Amino acid sequence: MTNDRNRSAFERLKQHYDHEELVCPDCGFEDEEGSWTSETDGQVVEYYHECPSCGAVREHTIDLTDE
Ligand SMILES: [Zn+2]
Repeated sequence: MTNDRNRSAFERLKQHYDHEELVCPDCGFEDEEGSWTSETDGQVVEYYHECPSCGAVREHTIDLTDE
């Protein structure tokens, strides 16, 4: 079962990261073709992005239950 309200928040956050945070802070490479990988268990969303240029990994964890 998927919670529609959480899923829409999840999609908005994914779009935010896809558009705003694809420039690597380590090497400055802009991963225009890339996107954040996201996983959720319904309570938290984990975002993961690996820079294709230098391999730096960034992760975000967002708590969907923190209203
Ligand atoms: Zn990089």
